[in-house]
Amino acid sequence: MDFALSAEQAQIRDMVSEFVDEEVVPLAEEIDHDDEFPHDLVDEMAELGLMGMPFPEEYGGAGLDYHSYAIGLEEISRGSGGLGTIVAAHTSLAGNMLYEFGDESQKEEYLTPLAEGRDIGAFALSEAGAGSDVPAMETTAEKCEATASEQSGVAAEKDGDEYVINGGKLWISNGSVADTVTVFAKTDPDADTKGISSFVVRPEEDDGFIVENTEEKLGDKGCPTAELRFDDLRIPEDRLLGEEGDGFVHALKTLNGGRITIAARGVGIARAAFEEARDYATEREQFGQPIGEFQSIKHKLADMDTKIQAAKMLMHKAADKKIRGENYIKDAAQAKLYASEVSREVANEGIQIHGGYGYTKDFPAERFYRDAKLNEIYEGTSEVLRNTIGDQLLEE
Ligand SMILES: Cc1cc2nc3c(=O)[nH]c(=O)nc-3n(C[C@H](O)[C@H](O)[C@H](O)COP(=O)(O)OP(=O)(O)OC[C@H]3O[C@@H](n4cnc5c(N)ncnc54)[C@H](O)[C@@H]3O)c2cc1C
Repeated sequence: MDFALSAEQAQIRDMVSEFVDEEVVPLAEEIDHDDEFPHDLVDEMAELGLMGMPFPEEYGGAGLDYHSYAIGLEEISRGSGGLGTIVAAHTSLAGNMLYEFGDESQKEEYLTPLAEGRDIGAFALSEAGAGSDVPAMETTAEKCEATASEQSGVAAEKDGDEYVINGGKLWISNGSVADTVTVFAKTDPDADTKGISSFVVRPEEDDGFIVENTEEKLGDKGCPTAELRFDDLRIPEDRLLGEEGDGFVHALKTLNGGRITIAARGVGIARAAFEEARDYATEREQFGQPIGEFQSIKHKLADMDTKIQAAKMLMHKAADKKIRGENYIKDAAQAKLYASEVSREVANEGIQIHGGYGYTKDFPAERFYRDAKLNEIYEGTSEVLRNTIGDQLLEE
């Protein structure tokens, strides 16, 4: 067992950390205030290979192992929680769907531009009535032959059959800015989980893709969370990923890997909250001494860092099992569950250490708290993850 980072992993951490300190931290307040997608920052990250960290170089990625990817995402999230979601949804969700389940030509056509950061990706699973309960989704994809009139028109260039998608999705991170969206829909509404399929949708090319709205949120600013509608959205049949009926398994497998990076987002935000609170505790004086000298504050800092270190261990344990090709469902769920709760607890204590100032926008402590809260909700709520962990324990 080796707890030390390899030379390459340490190099990645240092490179991303420096980028975050120089480019992200100075913009974090503006991103939080303006709530606009930070295109320039994303372009800079693409230059550094940060939009395709875990994908092989042959598909435009940086070819990093999952530990390095998690470390990179932890650092990015330390700078901005919204940026952490942008990269996680783009890479762990949309990119991984293509990497794991796309055929060679789908990888070349759709994964490479994502990994190189020329395109932005989104993952559209959730619906108004189907959050935790994924099989309750109502979006459908019907296979149709191209009609005679279409064959004489634009659609004549399309090869063979098409799918026509109708329905809508809610809460889709990057959904309003994405070039490639992996969409889940029912190809057989009577077949429960086996009737769900996954597709590649290209908003700029495909008629019938409508961005209805973007949410006003508590935190996670800068990453647009979109409501999407598909109105007779026609896509060629070669946009199907894998086989019809594979979609539910695709979603579960993708979310497993994604949970490791939401754990990383939790650790990153918690570190930011801790570091800020520690600095404040050494500067702020009351009763003639820095507040950090009071045992109650020192103990808060001790608990905060201990929890962060434990969350990091769980994150790396899950990444290790994923790299080894072992079953890591329980490990990823535990890492995500624990790191999410730790990020909210640490951010809460960060505000407490700042006293009244922590409750104002004069310090970033309140932003860390707002950003941290989301970790307990997306990619499996904490309640649903406890169900997953419990089920896995009973199966062991
Ligand atoms: C900012 C943001 C970004 C998101 N990004 C994406 C994205 O990019 N792509 C995407 O597809 N989705 C995304 N989501 C959706 C997210 O995954 C869902 O919100 C989440 O899965 C919960 O679903 P829900 O909101 O419908 O809540 P519900 O499922 O209605 O849950 C409500 C409450 O009931 C509890 N509950 C539900 N079922 C159970 C159960 N079986 N046992 C115990 N408790 C239960 C939940 O834990 C929760 O406390 C995002 C959400 C947010 C807020």
